[in-house]
Amino acid sequence: MTSPTTPAEAVRTSTIAEQALRRRTFAVISHPDAGKSTLTEALALYASAITDAGVTHGKSSRHGTVSDWMGMERERGISISSAALQLEYRGTVLNLVDTPGHADFSEDTYRVLAAVDCAVMLIDAAKGFEPQTVKLLEVCKQRGLPIVTVINKWDRPGLDALELIDQIGERTEMVPVPLTWPVGTAGHFEGLLDVRADVSLALESVGGGALPAIETVVEQADLRPDSSAVWDAAHEELGLVRSSNGEFDAAEFTAARQTPVLFAAAARNFGVRQLVDMLVEVGPPPSPRVAANGVRRPVEADFSGFVFKVQAGQNTAHRDHIAYLRICSGVFERGMVITNARTGRPFATKYAHRVLGREREALEQAWPGDVVGLVNATSLRVGDSLYQEEAVTFPEIPHFSPELFVAVRAKDPGRYKQFRRGIEQLDHEGVIQVLRSELRGDQSPVLAAVGQLQFEVAEQRMRTEFNAPVSLESLSYTLARRVTTTAPASTLPETFRGGEILRRSDGEHIAVFGDRWKLGHFTEANPQVSLEVIGAG
Ligand code: GDP
Repeated sequence: MTSPTTPAEAVRTSTIAEQALRRRTFAVISHPDAGKSTLTEALALYASAITDAGVTHGKSSRHGTVSDWMGMERERGISISSAALQLEYRGTVLNLVDTPGHADFSEDTYRVLAAVDCAVMLIDAAKGFEPQTVKLLEVCKQRGLPIVTVINKWDRPGLDALELIDQIGERTEMVPVPLTWPVGTAGHFEGLLDVRADVSLALESVGGGALPAIETVVEQADLRPDSSAVWDAAHEELGLVRSSNGEFDAAEFTAARQTPVLFAAAARNFGVRQLVDMLVEVGPPPSPRVAANGVRRPVEADFSGFVFKVQAGQNTAHRDHIAYLRICSGVFERGMVITNARTGRPFATKYAHRVLGREREALEQAWPGDVVGLVNATSLRVGDSLYQEEAVTFPEIPHFSPELFVAVRAKDPGRYKQFRRGIEQLDHEGVIQVLRSELRGDQSPVLAAVGQLQFEVAEQRMRTEFNAPVSLESLSYTLARRVTTTAPASTLPETFRGGEILRRSDGEHIAVFGDRWKLGHFTEANPQVSLEVIGAG
């Protein structure tokens, strides 16, 4: 970007820089039931919601904003959307981008992580690391995202605090540095030692968690001898960890070499204020995004962003199609005409919305770090880069390694044309990955996904939107590898015991296997075929 030449330009760039600096865009990663919804609601208790129309909760909750976009969502009471909740706290805007969990786990869950600047990893104190957290953690690590670790449910019996710190160090390969330390073992949560503020706080829940917790500063000298032992123990444990792991260092955190650790009981709002304070004070604001050509685009440059999720079919009557855009630079103004880097075509942003949900709120202006929903964006695909003046293409969002596979075919062979169009559209949108082979033919390609929900969405949209009902036949494959052999595709075996080789729509060849053993047999029998793990971002 050229340096500002006029006073007006100087004002413009400094306003953008200021707005970017006061934004924190993050996601919460966790295993189902660790308390993500509860924590989200607790955060909203401290920070005021600018709007919460886009966050959907599957269970009864303090907010209980249940989306009713799709009939399926209504029936199952789950959220399929990855919308953003925008909160304001101490003059800082917090963009909490929703990562769907549970049965609605899908590639979108991973893609959201391309749109955030940091992740809050929520761990259940009784369970430690659980499979879904580990998967999401891997994606964060590949992206080099800074991670804040929150140990939740400390008001319930659980693991030992020091043991959890060791686990975090081992599993994340980052140095865990406590910013708070619990007073009392799990199940006896009396207070917190706040490292950054250098105070000891006694905590008291108010209204069963309906209000922020009461925090009282505790002076060691004032404690009765019978209760002072537990505070002493907390100081001692914290001292041990600090002397072995060192102190919090913002640069180490941003470089994802340190993970700050906080203890909490989200249901009681214990430890939540410390989390939101640390996000505001030391959380990473949007930074210059590296484009595909390796050039960093400053946040003050003219408008640019990329699509990290496309959603369609919420409203069958209106053929709704919404693209979620993460802003990387500049100011977004509704009505502005932007260019799609992939097609070179202009896109008019007449229908821009702040957050999506039952109620859509027209959005007039947005800044780096914000998430914008563009309605009727049928020409936009996941990964598309958009810009105002200076062209930019951001790196593609990588494909993720599918774990579930089905063969799909049209129930009514007479509707083959609709079937083909629908499958192509869903592939373009990134709803599912479509894999083909000569052997299977175009009549019955393979759909691949990371979550079962992706198939359900595909099945529903094929029926309602493309008028081509499909049947899905489960395949017994569980893992995929990218074929990196340079030999001509014709020399690759199409099928083999326990697997086959298929072609993805971007031309890559993907080998799928029943299990690790089948993969092992294949590599032994076919040393000329080299394979690579999919998804390294
Ligand atoms: P999610 O699936 O990660 O969104 O988890 P939820 O927020 O729905 O929480 C799962 C269950 O754990 C619910 O019954 C919550 O009430 C409970 N829960 C969440 N946080 C806490 C906590 O800090 N302490 C206790 N005791 N229960 C909690």
